[in-house]
Amino acid sequence: MTTTALPSTDALRQRALDVLARLDAVPAEGRGVRARTPVTGESLLDLATTSPDAADEAVAAAHAAFLSWRAVPAPRRGELVRRLGDLLREHKADLADLVTIEAGKIRSEALGEVQEMIDICDFAVGLSRQLYGRTIASERPGHRLTETWHPLGVVGVISAFNFPAAVWAWNTAVALVCGDTVVWKPSELTPLTALACDRLLARAADESGAPREVHRLLLGDRALGELLADDPRVALVSATGSVRMGRQVGPRVAARFGRTLLELGGNNAAVVAPSADLDLAAPAIVFAAAGTAGQRCTTLRRLIAHEDVADALLDRLTSAYGRLPIGDPFDDATLVGPLITGQAHDAMRHALGTARAEGGKLLAGGGRRLADAAPAAFYAEPAIVRVEGQNGIVREETFAPILYVQTYRTLDEAIELNNAVPQGLSSSVFTRDVGEAELFTSATGSDCGIVNVNIGTSGAEIGGAFGGEKETGGGRESGSDAWRAYMRRSTATVNYSDRLTLAQNVSFL
Ligand code: NAD
Repeated sequence: MTTTALPSTDALRQRALDVLARLDAVPAEGRGVRARTPVTGESLLDLATTSPDAADEAVAAAHAAFLSWRAVPAPRRGELVRRLGDLLREHKADLADLVTIEAGKIRSEALGEVQEMIDICDFAVGLSRQLYGRTIASERPGHRLTETWHPLGVVGVISAFNFPAAVWAWNTAVALVCGDTVVWKPSELTPLTALACDRLLARAADESGAPREVHRLLLGDRALGELLADDPRVALVSATGSVRMGRQVGPRVAARFGRTLLELGGNNAAVVAPSADLDLAAPAIVFAAAGTAGQRCTTLRRLIAHEDVADALLDRLTSAYGRLPIGDPFDDATLVGPLITGQAHDAMRHALGTARAEGGKLLAGGGRRLADAAPAAFYAEPAIVRVEGQNGIVREETFAPILYVQTYRTLDEAIELNNAVPQGLSSSVFTRDVGEAELFTSATGSDCGIVNVNIGTSGAEIGGAFGGEKETGGGRESGSDAWRAYMRRSTATVNYSDRLTLAQNVSFL
Protein backbone atom coordinates (compact mmCIF):
# COMPACT_ATOMS: atom_id res chain seq x y z
CA MET A 1 0.00 0.00 0.00
CA THR A 2 1.47 3.35 -1.01
CA THR A 3 1.15 6.52 1.04
CA THR A 4 0.59 10.09 -0.19
CA ALA A 5 1.86 13.15 1.77
CA LEU A 6 -0.51 15.45 3.66
CA PRO A 7 -1.30 19.17 3.35
CA SER A 8 -0.84 21.41 6.40
CA THR A 9 -3.70 22.33 8.73
CA ASP A 10 -3.12 26.02 7.92
CA ALA A 11 -3.54 25.31 4.21
CA LEU A 12 -6.75 23.35 4.87
CA ARG A 13 -8.12 26.08 7.15
CA GLN A 14 -7.42 28.72 4.50
CA ARG A 15 -9.03 26.57 1.82
CA ALA A 16 -12.16 26.16 3.97
CA LEU A 17 -12.32 29.88 4.75
CA ASP A 18 -11.93 30.74 1.05
CA VAL A 19 -14.83 28.46 0.18
CA LEU A 20 -17.01 29.91 2.95
CA ALA A 21 -16.16 33.45 1.80
CA ARG A 22 -17.14 32.58 -1.79
CA LEU A 23 -20.44 31.25 -0.48
CA ASP A 24 -20.93 34.27 1.76
CA ALA A 25 -21.15 31.84 4.70
CA VAL A 26 -18.41 33.17 6.95
CA PRO A 27 -19.06 31.54 10.32
CA ALA A 28 -19.51 33.39 13.60
CA GLU A 29 -16.66 32.25 15.79
CA GLY A 30 -17.61 31.24 19.30
CA ARG A 31 -17.47 28.29 21.64
CA GLY A 32 -19.06 24.91 21.74
CA VAL A 33 -18.59 23.45 18.27
CA ARG A 34 -15.10 22.73 17.04
CA ALA A 35 -14.60 22.41 13.30
CA ARG A 36 -11.70 20.03 12.70
CA THR A 37 -10.26 18.08 9.84
CA PRO A 38 -9.51 14.36 9.90
CA VAL A 39 -6.91 15.01 7.18
CA THR A 40 -4.44 16.23 9.82
CA GLY A 41 -6.62 15.58 12.87
CA GLU A 42 -6.29 19.20 13.95
CA SER A 43 -8.74 22.01 14.73
CA LEU A 44 -9.80 24.52 12.11
CA LEU A 45 -12.17 26.92 13.89
CA ASP A 46 -14.27 27.25 17.02
CA LEU A 47 -17.90 28.04 16.33
CA ALA A 48 -20.79 29.07 18.51
CA THR A 49 -23.20 26.34 19.44
CA THR A 50 -26.96 26.96 19.07
CA SER A 51 -28.44 27.55 22.54
CA PRO A 52 -31.58 25.65 23.62
CA ASP A 53 -33.53 28.94 23.47
CA ALA A 54 -32.30 29.64 19.95
CA ALA A 55 -33.22 26.08 18.95
CA ASP A 56 -36.70 26.59 20.36
CA GLU A 57 -37.02 29.83 18.41
CA ALA A 58 -35.82 28.06 15.23
CA VAL A 59 -38.52 25.40 15.56
CA ALA A 60 -41.13 28.11 16.21
CA ALA A 61 -40.00 30.04 13.11
CA ALA A 62 -40.01 26.89 10.96
CA HIS A 63 -43.47 26.03 12.27
CA ALA A 64 -44.80 29.52 11.50
CA ALA A 65 -43.28 29.30 8.01
CA PHE A 66 -44.94 25.93 7.49
CA LEU A 67 -48.38 27.47 7.98
CA SER A 68 -47.90 29.61 4.86
CA TRP A 69 -45.51 27.34 2.89
CA ARG A 70 -48.06 24.50 2.88
CA ALA A 71 -50.47 26.73 0.92
CA VAL A 72 -47.94 27.52 -1.84
CA PRO A 73 -48.71 25.28 -4.85
CA ALA A 74 -46.27 22.38 -5.01
CA PRO A 75 -44.87 23.28 -8.49
CA ARG A 76 -44.09 26.75 -7.11
CA ARG A 77 -42.33 25.16 -4.13
CA GLY A 78 -40.33 23.26 -6.70
CA GLU A 79 -38.90 26.60 -7.93
CA LEU A 80 -36.98 26.91 -4.64
CA VAL A 81 -35.48 23.45 -5.07
CA ARG A 82 -34.69 24.12 -8.72
CA ARG A 83 -32.70 27.21 -7.66
CA LEU A 84 -30.93 25.20 -4.95
CA GLY A 85 -29.91 22.66 -7.60
CA ASP A 86 -28.53 25.49 -9.81
CA LEU A 87 -26.47 26.86 -6.91
CA LEU A 88 -25.17 23.38 -6.11
CA ARG A 89 -24.03 23.00 -9.72
CA GLU A 90 -22.30 26.39 -9.53
CA HIS A 91 -20.56 25.57 -6.23
CA LYS A 92 -20.03 21.84 -6.70
CA ALA A 93 -16.26 22.05 -6.27
CA ASP A 94 -16.56 24.41 -3.28
CA LEU A 95 -18.90 22.14 -1.38
CA ALA A 96 -16.82 19.08 -2.27
CA ASP A 97 -13.79 20.86 -0.75
CA LEU A 98 -15.60 21.19 2.56
CA VAL A 99 -16.72 17.55 2.45
CA THR A 100 -13.11 16.48 1.95
CA ILE A 101 -11.78 18.81 4.63
CA GLU A 102 -14.35 17.82 7.29
CA ALA A 103 -15.24 14.21 6.43
CA GLY A 104 -11.95 13.20 4.77
CA LYS A 105 -13.55 11.85 1.57
CA ILE A 106 -11.33 11.52 -1.46
CA ARG A 107 -11.97 14.09 -4.15
CA SER A 108 -14.04 11.97 -6.54
CA GLU A 109 -16.29 10.73 -3.72
CA ALA A 110 -16.76 14.26 -2.37
CA LEU A 111 -17.71 15.48 -5.85
CA GLY A 112 -20.00 12.45 -6.12
CA GLU A 113 -21.69 13.45 -2.88
CA VAL A 114 -22.50 16.91 -4.30
CA GLN A 115 -23.65 15.32 -7.57
CA GLU A 116 -26.07 13.25 -5.51
CA MET A 117 -27.45 16.50 -4.06
CA ILE A 118 -27.93 17.90 -7.55
CA ASP A 119 -29.64 14.69 -8.64
CA ILE A 120 -32.11 14.74 -5.74
CA CYS A 121 -32.93 18.39 -6.48
CA ASP A 122 -33.75 17.43 -10.09
CA PHE A 123 -35.84 14.54 -8.82
CA ALA A 124 -37.69 16.72 -6.30
CA VAL A 125 -38.45 19.41 -8.89
CA GLY A 126 -40.12 16.74 -11.07
CA LEU A 127 -41.86 15.37 -8.01
CA SER A 128 -43.36 18.78 -7.31
CA ARG A 129 -45.76 18.08 -10.19
CA GLN A 130 -46.34 14.45 -9.29
CA LEU A 131 -47.55 14.27 -5.69
CA TYR A 132 -50.31 12.00 -6.84
CA GLY A 133 -53.26 10.78 -4.81
CA ARG A 134 -55.83 8.17 -5.81
CA THR A 135 -59.49 8.10 -6.74
CA ILE A 136 -61.09 4.98 -5.29
CA ALA A 137 -64.35 3.34 -6.41
CA SER A 138 -66.97 4.05 -3.74
CA GLU A 139 -69.47 1.32 -2.82
CA ARG A 140 -72.17 3.98 -2.45
CA PRO A 141 -74.08 5.57 -5.36
CA GLY A 142 -73.39 9.28 -5.90
CA HIS A 143 -70.22 9.25 -3.79
CA ARG A 144 -66.64 10.05 -4.64
CA LEU A 145 -63.78 8.61 -2.58
CA THR A 146 -60.35 10.22 -2.91
CA GLU A 147 -56.98 10.18 -1.25
CA THR A 148 -54.96 13.40 -1.19
CA TRP A 149 -51.45 13.96 0.15
CA HIS A 150 -51.01 17.13 2.23
CA PRO A 151 -47.92 18.77 3.73
CA LEU A 152 -47.00 17.30 7.11
CA GLY A 153 -45.28 20.03 9.16
CA VAL A 154 -41.77 20.71 10.44
CA VAL A 155 -39.26 17.97 9.58
CA GLY A 156 -36.36 17.62 12.01
CA VAL A 157 -33.34 16.27 10.14
CA ILE A 158 -30.55 14.70 12.23
CA SER A 159 -27.59 13.64 10.10
CA ALA A 160 -24.34 11.68 10.39
CA PHE A 161 -20.77 12.80 9.64
CA ASN A 162 -20.14 10.48 6.72
CA PHE A 163 -22.61 12.05 4.30
CA PRO A 164 -22.46 15.56 5.69
CA ALA A 165 -24.31 17.18 2.77
CA ALA A 166 -26.14 14.54 0.70
CA VAL A 167 -28.32 13.15 3.50
CA TRP A 168 -29.48 16.70 4.23
CA ALA A 169 -30.31 17.20 0.55
CA TRP A 170 -32.18 13.87 0.29
CA ASN A 171 -34.44 14.99 3.11
CA THR A 172 -34.64 18.70 2.48
CA ALA A 173 -35.25 18.76 -1.28
CA VAL A 174 -38.11 16.28 -0.93
CA ALA A 175 -39.54 17.82 2.28
CA LEU A 176 -39.63 21.30 0.74
CA VAL A 177 -41.56 20.29 -2.37
CA CYS A 178 -43.91 18.32 -0.11
CA GLY A 179 -44.73 21.62 1.64
CA ASP A 180 -42.82 20.97 4.84
CA THR A 181 -40.22 23.16 6.50
CA VAL A 182 -36.94 21.80 7.86
CA VAL A 183 -34.85 22.21 11.02
CA TRP A 184 -31.46 20.55 10.55
CA LYS A 185 -29.15 19.20 13.26
CA PRO A 186 -26.04 18.07 11.35
CA SER A 187 -23.23 16.02 12.85
CA GLU A 188 -21.10 18.03 15.25
CA LEU A 189 -18.12 16.76 13.23
CA THR A 190 -19.10 18.59 10.02
CA PRO A 191 -20.38 22.09 10.93
CA LEU A 192 -18.71 24.01 8.08
CA THR A 193 -20.32 21.85 5.40
CA ALA A 194 -23.65 22.44 7.15
CA LEU A 195 -23.15 26.20 7.21
CA ALA A 196 -22.40 26.16 3.48
CA CYS A 197 -25.55 24.12 2.67
CA ASP A 198 -27.70 26.36 4.86
CA ARG A 199 -26.31 29.46 3.15
CA LEU A 200 -26.94 28.07 -0.35
CA LEU A 201 -30.53 27.29 0.60
CA ALA A 202 -31.00 30.80 2.05
CA ARG A 203 -29.77 32.23 -1.27
CA ALA A 204 -32.08 29.95 -3.21
CA ALA A 205 -34.98 31.12 -1.01
CA ASP A 206 -34.15 34.80 -1.57
CA GLU A 207 -33.77 34.33 -5.31
CA SER A 208 -36.95 32.30 -5.73
CA GLY A 209 -39.15 34.39 -3.42
CA ALA A 210 -39.57 31.71 -0.74
CA PRO A 211 -39.41 32.57 2.98
CA ARG A 212 -35.98 31.92 4.52
CA GLU A 213 -37.61 30.31 7.54
CA VAL A 214 -38.41 27.22 5.47
CA HIS A 215 -35.01 26.06 6.71
CA ARG A 216 -33.19 26.52 10.00
CA LEU A 217 -29.83 25.14 11.12
CA LEU A 218 -28.89 24.08 14.66
CA LEU A 219 -25.16 23.69 15.37
CA GLY A 220 -24.24 21.53 18.31
CA ASP A 221 -24.18 18.05 19.78
CA ARG A 222 -26.79 15.39 20.38
CA ALA A 223 -28.61 17.52 23.00
CA LEU A 224 -30.03 19.57 20.12
CA GLY A 225 -31.12 16.36 18.40
CA GLU A 226 -32.88 15.39 21.62
CA LEU A 227 -34.76 18.71 21.57
CA LEU A 228 -36.02 17.91 18.08
CA ALA A 229 -37.00 14.40 19.17
CA ASP A 230 -39.06 15.76 22.09
CA ASP A 231 -40.68 18.77 20.39
CA PRO A 232 -44.34 18.16 19.43
CA ARG A 233 -44.09 20.88 16.77
CA VAL A 234 -41.69 18.61 14.85
CA ALA A 235 -44.01 16.30 12.93
CA LEU A 236 -41.33 14.01 11.52
CA VAL A 237 -37.83 13.30 12.81
CA SER A 238 -35.67 11.93 10.03
CA ALA A 239 -32.56 10.62 11.78
CA THR A 240 -29.50 9.14 10.10
CA GLY A 241 -26.74 7.64 12.21
CA SER A 242 -25.83 4.70 14.41
CA VAL A 243 -28.21 2.07 15.75
CA ARG A 244 -27.35 3.40 19.21
CA MET A 245 -28.69 6.83 18.21
CA GLY A 246 -31.82 5.30 16.65
CA ARG A 247 -32.54 3.36 19.83
CA GLN A 248 -32.52 6.64 21.73
CA VAL A 249 -34.39 8.82 19.22
CA GLY A 250 -37.07 6.31 18.14
CA PRO A 251 -38.75 5.79 21.54
CA ARG A 252 -38.56 9.51 22.41
CA VAL A 253 -40.44 10.51 19.27
CA ALA A 254 -42.86 7.59 19.65
CA ALA A 255 -43.63 8.69 23.23
CA ARG A 256 -45.28 11.81 21.78
CA PHE A 257 -46.75 9.89 18.81
CA GLY A 258 -44.50 11.76 16.39
CA ARG A 259 -43.24 10.15 13.21
CA THR A 260 -39.71 8.90 12.62
CA LEU A 261 -37.76 7.99 9.53
CA LEU A 262 -34.73 6.04 10.75
CA GLU A 263 -31.67 5.38 8.56
CA LEU A 264 -29.26 3.50 10.82
CA GLY A 265 -26.24 1.23 10.61
CA GLY A 266 -25.62 -1.62 8.20
CA ASN A 267 -23.58 -4.83 8.19
CA ASN A 268 -23.62 -5.51 4.50
CA ALA A 269 -22.62 -8.72 2.75
CA ALA A 270 -21.72 -9.82 -0.77
CA VAL A 271 -22.12 -13.40 -1.93
CA VAL A 272 -19.68 -14.53 -4.63
CA ALA A 273 -21.00 -17.57 -6.47
CA PRO A 274 -18.92 -20.11 -8.45
CA SER A 275 -20.09 -18.63 -11.78
CA ALA A 276 -19.11 -15.06 -10.80
CA ASP A 277 -16.92 -13.01 -13.13
CA LEU A 278 -14.01 -12.34 -10.76
CA ASP A 279 -12.65 -9.56 -13.00
CA LEU A 280 -15.86 -7.70 -12.28
CA ALA A 281 -16.37 -8.84 -8.69
CA ALA A 282 -12.89 -8.04 -7.35
CA PRO A 283 -12.81 -4.27 -8.09
CA ALA A 284 -16.46 -3.94 -7.03
CA ILE A 285 -15.60 -5.57 -3.70
CA VAL A 286 -12.49 -3.42 -3.17
CA PHE A 287 -14.48 -0.20 -3.78
CA ALA A 288 -17.36 -1.33 -1.56
CA ALA A 289 -15.12 -2.52 1.30
CA ALA A 290 -12.18 -0.09 1.28
CA GLY A 291 -13.74 2.96 -0.41
CA THR A 292 -14.59 5.93 1.84
CA ALA A 293 -12.17 4.21 4.28
CA GLY A 294 -15.01 1.84 5.20
CA GLN A 295 -17.16 4.71 6.45
CA ARG A 296 -20.37 4.29 4.47
CA CYS A 297 -23.51 2.81 5.93
CA THR A 298 -23.50 0.57 2.84
CA THR A 299 -19.80 -0.38 3.12
CA LEU A 300 -19.18 -4.06 2.40
CA ARG A 301 -18.28 -5.68 5.72
CA ARG A 302 -18.88 -9.39 5.07
CA LEU A 303 -17.76 -11.39 2.06
CA ILE A 304 -19.45 -14.77 1.63
CA ALA A 305 -17.48 -16.56 -1.08
CA HIS A 306 -18.19 -20.01 -2.52
CA GLU A 307 -15.46 -22.41 -1.41
CA ASP A 308 -14.53 -23.11 -5.07
CA VAL A 309 -13.69 -19.44 -5.78
CA ALA A 310 -12.64 -18.13 -2.36
CA ASP A 311 -8.89 -18.65 -2.79
CA ALA A 312 -8.74 -17.14 -6.29
CA LEU A 313 -10.84 -14.19 -5.16
CA LEU A 314 -8.75 -13.63 -2.02
CA ASP A 315 -5.55 -13.63 -4.11
CA ARG A 316 -6.97 -10.78 -6.17
CA LEU A 317 -8.27 -8.89 -3.16
CA THR A 318 -5.10 -9.11 -1.07
CA SER A 319 -3.05 -8.04 -4.08
CA ALA A 320 -5.38 -5.04 -4.75
CA TYR A 321 -5.32 -4.11 -1.04
CA GLY A 322 -1.53 -4.16 -1.17
CA ARG A 323 -1.58 -1.43 -3.84
CA LEU A 324 -4.23 0.90 -2.36
CA PRO A 325 -2.86 4.46 -2.12
CA ILE A 326 -3.63 5.84 1.35
CA GLY A 327 -3.22 9.46 2.41
CA ASP A 328 -4.14 13.01 1.34
CA PRO A 329 -7.74 12.83 0.11
CA PHE A 330 -7.12 15.89 -2.11
CA ASP A 331 -4.45 13.97 -4.06
CA ASP A 332 -6.07 12.49 -7.17
CA ALA A 333 -3.99 9.32 -6.75
CA THR A 334 -5.36 8.60 -3.26
CA LEU A 335 -8.10 5.99 -2.88
CA VAL A 336 -8.26 5.74 0.92
CA GLY A 337 -8.47 8.84 3.10
CA PRO A 338 -8.47 9.12 6.89
CA LEU A 339 -10.77 7.69 9.52
CA ILE A 340 -12.90 10.42 11.05
CA THR A 341 -11.39 10.33 14.59
CA GLY A 342 -9.04 8.49 16.90
CA GLN A 343 -12.10 6.80 18.42
CA ALA A 344 -12.90 5.31 15.02
CA HIS A 345 -9.33 4.00 14.86
CA ASP A 346 -9.61 2.57 18.38
CA ALA A 347 -12.84 0.81 17.32
CA MET A 348 -11.03 -0.68 14.31
CA ARG A 349 -8.11 -1.92 16.41
CA HIS A 350 -10.49 -3.33 18.99
CA ALA A 351 -12.50 -5.15 16.30
CA LEU A 352 -9.34 -6.63 14.73
CA GLY A 353 -8.11 -7.77 18.16
CA THR A 354 -11.48 -9.34 18.98
CA ALA A 355 -11.67 -11.03 15.57
CA ARG A 356 -8.24 -12.59 16.15
CA ALA A 357 -9.22 -13.70 19.65
CA GLU A 358 -12.31 -15.30 18.12
CA GLY A 359 -10.17 -17.31 15.71
CA GLY A 360 -9.98 -14.93 12.72
CA LYS A 361 -6.84 -14.67 10.60
CA LEU A 362 -5.63 -11.30 9.31
CA LEU A 363 -4.91 -11.62 5.57
CA ALA A 364 -4.21 -7.98 4.67
CA GLY A 365 -3.83 -4.50 6.17
CA GLY A 366 -4.78 -3.45 9.68
CA GLY A 367 -1.81 -1.15 10.26
CA ARG A 368 -1.71 2.60 10.74
CA ARG A 369 -0.13 5.03 8.26
CA LEU A 370 1.26 8.57 8.46
CA ALA A 371 1.34 8.53 12.29
CA ASP A 372 4.66 10.38 12.29
CA ALA A 373 3.58 13.03 9.76
CA ALA A 374 0.21 13.61 11.44
CA PRO A 375 0.00 12.13 14.94
CA ALA A 376 -3.56 13.44 15.43
CA ALA A 377 -4.84 11.92 12.15
CA PHE A 378 -5.76 8.28 11.70
CA TYR A 379 -5.02 6.63 8.39
CA ALA A 380 -5.78 2.93 8.49
CA GLU A 381 -4.78 0.21 6.07
CA PRO A 382 -8.03 -1.50 5.01
CA ALA A 383 -8.05 -4.99 6.46
CA ILE A 384 -9.22 -8.43 5.33
CA VAL A 385 -9.87 -11.04 7.99
CA ARG A 386 -10.69 -14.67 7.30
CA VAL A 387 -13.27 -15.95 9.80
CA GLU A 388 -14.99 -19.26 10.45
CA GLY A 389 -18.64 -18.67 11.26
CA GLN A 390 -20.42 -15.49 12.02
CA ASN A 391 -20.44 -14.92 15.73
CA GLY A 392 -19.13 -12.14 17.95
CA ILE A 393 -17.56 -9.12 16.29
CA VAL A 394 -18.68 -10.08 12.76
CA ARG A 395 -22.27 -9.36 13.77
CA GLU A 396 -21.43 -5.76 14.68
CA GLU A 397 -20.97 -2.72 12.46
CA THR A 398 -17.44 -1.38 13.06
CA PHE A 399 -17.34 1.90 11.12
CA ALA A 400 -13.91 1.28 9.58
CA PRO A 401 -12.49 -0.69 6.63
CA ILE A 402 -12.58 -4.30 7.83
CA LEU A 403 -13.78 -7.04 5.49
CA TYR A 404 -14.60 -10.38 7.14
CA VAL A 405 -14.44 -13.30 4.72
CA GLN A 406 -16.17 -16.65 5.10
CA THR A 407 -17.02 -19.47 2.69
CA TYR A 408 -20.19 -21.34 1.77
CA ARG A 409 -21.26 -24.45 -0.12
CA THR A 410 -24.92 -23.94 -1.11
CA LEU A 411 -26.74 -20.74 -2.01
CA ASP A 412 -29.31 -21.41 0.72
CA GLU A 413 -26.46 -21.41 3.23
CA ALA A 414 -25.11 -18.15 1.77
CA ILE A 415 -28.52 -16.47 1.98
CA GLU A 416 -28.87 -17.64 5.57
CA LEU A 417 -25.49 -16.12 6.43
CA ASN A 418 -26.39 -12.89 4.59
CA ASN A 419 -29.56 -12.55 6.69
CA ALA A 420 -28.19 -13.77 10.03
CA VAL A 421 -27.12 -10.37 11.40
CA PRO A 422 -29.19 -7.80 13.28
CA GLN A 423 -28.87 -5.16 10.53
CA GLY A 424 -30.57 -5.22 7.10
CA LEU A 425 -29.35 -2.41 4.86
CA SER A 426 -27.52 -3.58 1.72
CA SER A 427 -26.48 -6.85 0.08
CA SER A 428 -25.23 -8.17 -3.24
CA VAL A 429 -24.64 -11.35 -5.16
CA PHE A 430 -22.03 -11.86 -7.88
CA THR A 431 -23.23 -14.59 -10.23
CA ARG A 432 -23.78 -15.35 -13.92
CA ASP A 433 -26.55 -17.80 -13.04
CA VAL A 434 -29.91 -16.09 -13.53
CA GLY A 435 -31.63 -18.53 -11.19
CA GLU A 436 -29.24 -17.64 -8.37
CA ALA A 437 -29.66 -13.93 -9.02
CA GLU A 438 -33.45 -14.21 -9.00
CA LEU A 439 -33.48 -16.30 -5.82
CA PHE A 440 -31.22 -13.83 -4.02
CA THR A 441 -33.49 -10.90 -4.93
CA SER A 442 -36.73 -12.83 -4.21
CA ALA A 443 -38.94 -12.94 -1.10
CA THR A 444 -36.90 -15.89 0.21
CA GLY A 445 -33.57 -14.26 -0.63
CA SER A 446 -31.79 -11.33 0.96
CA ASP A 447 -33.80 -9.63 3.73
CA CYS A 448 -32.15 -6.23 3.12
CA GLY A 449 -33.64 -3.00 1.80
CA ILE A 450 -31.03 -2.94 -0.97
CA VAL A 451 -30.31 -6.09 -3.00
CA ASN A 452 -27.79 -5.84 -5.85
CA VAL A 453 -26.62 -8.23 -8.54
CA ASN A 454 -23.09 -7.97 -9.96
CA ILE A 455 -22.36 -4.65 -8.28
CA GLY A 456 -21.14 -3.96 -4.75
CA THR A 457 -23.23 -3.01 -1.73
CA SER A 458 -22.46 0.73 -1.79
CA GLY A 459 -23.13 3.57 -4.18
CA ALA A 460 -26.92 3.74 -4.55
CA GLU A 461 -28.61 6.01 -7.11
CA ILE A 462 -31.13 8.58 -5.88
CA GLY A 463 -33.97 7.25 -8.07
CA GLY A 464 -34.63 4.26 -5.80
CA ALA A 465 -35.90 4.33 -2.23
CA PHE A 466 -32.95 4.05 0.14
CA GLY A 467 -32.97 2.32 3.52
CA GLY A 468 -33.04 -1.01 5.28
CA GLU A 469 -34.79 -3.38 7.63
CA LYS A 470 -34.31 -4.68 11.18
CA GLU A 471 -31.84 -2.60 13.20
CA THR A 472 -31.24 -0.37 10.16
CA GLY A 473 -34.53 1.22 11.18
CA GLY A 474 -37.00 0.55 8.35
CA GLY A 475 -36.97 4.09 6.90
CA ARG A 476 -36.89 4.87 3.18
CA GLU A 477 -35.51 8.10 1.77
CA SER A 478 -34.66 9.65 -1.56
CA GLY A 479 -36.43 8.35 -4.70
CA SER A 480 -39.39 6.16 -5.65
CA ASP A 481 -42.36 6.96 -3.38
CA ALA A 482 -40.25 7.79 -0.30
CA TRP A 483 -41.85 11.29 -0.48
CA ARG A 484 -44.97 9.89 1.17
CA ALA A 485 -43.15 9.78 4.52
CA TYR A 486 -43.01 13.60 4.36
CA MET A 487 -46.76 14.06 3.81
CA ARG A 488 -50.00 13.18 5.52
CA ARG A 489 -52.70 11.22 3.73
CA SER A 490 -56.26 12.47 3.81
CA THR A 491 -59.13 10.23 2.68
CA ALA A 492 -62.19 12.19 1.61
CA THR A 493 -65.66 10.81 0.82
CA VAL A 494 -67.93 13.27 -0.97
CA ASN A 495 -71.66 12.58 -1.27
CA TYR A 496 -72.89 14.45 -4.33
CA SER A 497 -76.30 12.73 -4.37
CA ASP A 498 -79.37 13.88 -2.44
CA ARG A 499 -79.63 10.65 -0.42
CA LEU A 500 -77.84 9.54 2.71
CA THR A 501 -76.46 6.04 2.11
CA LEU A 502 -74.49 4.40 4.89
CA ALA A 503 -71.53 2.13 4.18
CA GLN A 504 -71.86 -1.64 4.66
CA ASN A 505 -75.65 -1.29 4.06
CA VAL A 506 -76.16 -0.10 7.63
CA SER A 507 -79.67 1.27 8.15
CA PHE A 508 -80.40 3.90 10.79
CA LEU A 509 -83.44 6.15 11.18
P1 NAD B 1 -24.00 8.99 15.33
O1 NAD B 1 -25.15 8.11 15.68
O2 NAD B 1 -22.90 9.10 16.31
O3 NAD B 1 -24.54 10.50 15.09
C1 NAD B 1 -25.48 10.80 14.09
C2 NAD B 1 -26.24 12.06 14.47
O4 NAD B 1 -27.10 11.78 15.56
C3 NAD B 1 -25.36 13.23 14.91
O5 NAD B 1 -25.89 14.42 14.39
C4 NAD B 1 -25.48 13.19 16.43
O6 NAD B 1 -25.26 14.43 17.04
C5 NAD B 1 -26.92 12.75 16.58
N1 NAD B 1 -27.24 12.05 17.84
C6 NAD B 1 -26.49 11.13 18.48
N2 NAD B 1 -27.15 10.67 19.57
C7 NAD B 1 -28.35 11.32 19.60
C8 NAD B 1 -29.47 11.29 20.48
N3 NAD B 1 -29.48 10.52 21.56
N4 NAD B 1 -30.52 12.09 20.20
C9 NAD B 1 -30.53 12.88 19.12
N5 NAD B 1 -29.48 12.97 18.24
C10 NAD B 1 -28.41 12.19 18.49
O7 NAD B 1 -23.47 8.51 13.90
P2 NAD B 1 -22.14 8.96 13.11
O8 NAD B 1 -20.94 8.39 13.77
O9 NAD B 1 -22.18 10.42 12.81
O10 NAD B 1 -22.38 8.21 11.70
C11 NAD B 1 -22.07 6.87 11.46
C12 NAD B 1 -23.29 5.98 11.60
O11 NAD B 1 -24.36 6.45 10.76
C13 NAD B 1 -23.02 4.56 11.14
O12 NAD B 1 -23.65 3.66 12.01
C14 NAD B 1 -23.65 4.50 9.75
O13 NAD B 1 -24.00 3.21 9.32
C15 NAD B 1 -24.85 5.38 9.95
N6 NAD B 1 -25.36 5.91 8.70
C16 NAD B 1 -26.52 5.38 8.20
C17 NAD B 1 -27.00 5.83 6.98
C18 NAD B 1 -28.25 5.25 6.39
O14 NAD B 1 -28.79 5.87 5.47
N7 NAD B 1 -28.74 4.10 6.84
C19 NAD B 1 -26.32 6.84 6.28
C20 NAD B 1 -25.15 7.37 6.83
C21 NAD B 1 -24.69 6.89 8.05
